[in-house]
Formats: sequence, C-alpha cells, structure tokens
Amino acid sequence: MIKINENYKKLKASYLFSDIAKRVADYSRENPNAEIIRLGIGDVTRALPPVCIEALHRAVDEMGRDSSFMGYGPEQGYAFLREKIAQNDFQTRGVDVAPDEIFISDGAKCDTGNIQELFSQDIKIAVPDPVYPVYVDTNVMAGRTGENINGRYENLLYLESNEENGFVPSPPEERVDLIYLCFPNNPTGATSTKEQLKEWVDYARENDSLILFDAAYVSFIRDESLPHSIYEIEGAREVAMEFRSFSKNAGFTGTRCAFTVVPKECRAFDSNGNVAELHPLWLRRQTTKFNGVSYPVQRAAEAIYSEEGKKQVGELTDFYLENAKIIIETMTGLGYSCTGGVNSPYIWVNVRTESWAAFDSMLNKSAVVCTPGTGFGNCGDGYIRISAFNSRENVITAMERIDKAF
Ligand code: PLP
Repeated sequence: MIKINENYKKLKASYLFSDIAKRVADYSRENPNAEIIRLGIGDVTRALPPVCIEALHRAVDEMGRDSSFMGYGPEQGYAFLREKIAQNDFQTRGVDVAPDEIFISDGAKCDTGNIQELFSQDIKIAVPDPVYPVYVDTNVMAGRTGENINGRYENLLYLESNEENGFVPSPPEERVDLIYLCFPNNPTGATSTKEQLKEWVDYARENDSLILFDAAYVSFIRDESLPHSIYEIEGAREVAMEFRSFSKNAGFTGTRCAFTVVPKECRAFDSNGNVAELHPLWLRRQTTKFNGVSYPVQRAAEAIYSEEGKKQVGELTDFYLENAKIIIETMTGLGYSCTGGVNSPYIWVNVRTESWAAFDSMLNKSAVVCTPGTGFGNCGDGYIRISAFNSRENVITAMERIDKAF
C-alpha cells in the first residue's frame, strides 16, 4: 500500500488567500460596477528594467546559434553572476562574501523552504510571529512539529513580534538550534538595527545555533545606518546563511532568480558534536536536486549590476517606496499607527479591531483589498498588511477612497 507523508495532514490549510478571493468575489457580485483595487498581494506590478530585457534578448539570440548555445550550466550558477553579486551586494559594503559562497537559485521561497533538509529531525526551531509561512510549513512537512493547536504548531518556538518590541523580537531565554529571521520583514515591514542583529549573532554563537536570514526586501532599505546583510555583524559568517532574491528589487517574480549565501565557515554539528560545514552539504544538495537557473535569466540578473541597471533598479524601488509614503500618510492621518513602509514595501497597520473585520470594512466601504494580519500568525490579529506594489494611480485612488470612508 502506497502511503502518504502523514505530516502533510498536520498542515493547517491556508485559507488566507482563498478566503480573500471569496470575499472579493462576493463583494464584486453584489457591487458589479465597483472598481476593486488590490493592495493585498506581495507581487510586483511594474515591468522588468530595460537592461534586463536587453540582456534577455541578447541571451536568447545566443541560445539560437550552435556556436553560442548554452546547455546545462553550473548548478551553483554562472560565475559571471556570482562575481557581480559578491562584489556589488557585499564587498563594496565592506562585507566578506566570495563568489563561491553564493548559490544562484530560482527563488528565495524554494531556498528558504529546501534548506531545512540539511538539519536533523530533532532540532528546536524558532520562527517569528507574524511569519512568512514558508518557514513554518516546510518544517511541518518534514515532521519537525506536532499538531496545530489554536493557530500554533507544537514544538516550534514563536518569537512574538509586537508594538512593544517594535516588531523585532529579542533572542529567547531558552536555547534553540535554528532561527528564522527576516528583515526588512514580511509582513510587518520592520527593520532591525545592527545592535539588534548582533544580539542574535551572539546568541547563535553562544548556543551553537544557526540563523537563516531572509533579506528578500533589502533593496528597499534607504536608511544607511541599517544593516543590509547579516554578515555586517562580526562573527556572523559561522552562524548565518543569507537568502536574497531578484523578485522585489528588479521585478523577477515571474522571471525567477535568487541566491543563497553559505560562507565556508558556516557550520552545524554532527551527532557526535563535531563541526560539520554547511557549504559542502548545500552544494551536494543543489548538485543532486537542482539543475540551475536558465542562462538568459542569469544574464538578465547580471544586467542589474551595470551602472544603468543599478539606476533602473533604484528607480523601481523608489517608485514603490513613494507609494508606501502615500499609504502611510493616509493611514496615519486617519489616526492609525503604522510600521514599515519606510525601508520596506509593506505597511503594517494597527487597525484596533479584529483583522478580518478591518478587511471587510475596507472592502465594503472603499473597494480596496488588503491582507488581514491574522493570516501570518496569531500576533498578526489586530493588524492589516497594505502592499505598496501597485500603480501610482491605483494607490492614490485607493487612499482617497479610504480617506473619505473612514
Ligand atoms: N522571502 C520573503 C520574506 C518573501 O516575502 C518572499 C516573497 O514574497 C520570498 C522570500 C520569495 O521570494 P522569491 O520570489 O525569490 O521566491
């Protein structure tokens, strides 16, 4: 008898986006003339930067000639891209990351989801609450949790993010083995300071733990005093992996390219307590299960690092940040306290009522869709997430409607 992985049964069905879709469909049926504006999703709305399109065209032409055709590439990614990343994203900021410590992939979602394969079944894991759900669900699938009781899985430690700690949790009293951190954060938009990250790095060093640092939104940081990489913190190379993505800086959500940094010193331990380097393990995992990102896409990602490319990416992220500013001005003007939206494309609004009630009221009164915070964890109740990924026109119209209705 072929049996399923029973852990999948533990997964709390994520009704979040289907619930949103259903409520929006109901509203639409009752209000057929309403022009709904969606500020709920985390997908970008603007086209790829022109430098990427040009690089894609060139690479596609190369693929069309026998003399320049590219077949399977290196599983870790082409050196031309890894070198540009190491230099521009790390070395120019004084951060020590070498090209061979970078693994190109087709998404930070896959990488943050797959990475847990490297670790033992019986590790103790800490996740933020609210959380990007991939960190949790992939560990549920792997059998590292118990059942979901009242919105929380047994055996996970939830790091509560709230207004008291500015949505940046401190290390816990107890020891944990694996820690997921994400800054600038999805969904709260919060950023962490160097001092706050140092607390985590020190904790990981003292407790032989490992930090998985998700920096998918780093390109939205404008405050230069904020860390862009966890490797800006001394000692992080031994205790942290970093995940980055081209999805939100250059609009690659549908094009797919990202990367993970695993420093050579980054370590875990074997069952005898001996140090086990993670770089060779991730390399082994990737060479066994992954065949690389397509050549044209890696060329398109490389183009982002040209002078023109940097300018275009800067303009793209500035555009969304200007949207975020408009959203914050409206929401704070109405008396709501907001987090994020300054070094992040997400605005986390304290709606002073239950999340779904706020969602319904925004939809019914202004035909604007947001995301109820409760969908990201128990600590998200009482909040909504508004995304700045939309056209200027839509953001302005949405905010005018909200301003009038509330
Ligand atoms: N990490 C975080 C925190 C995200 O919010 C997202 C996407 O929304 C991702 C990773 C996924 O990125 P990618 O498109 O590279 O898979």
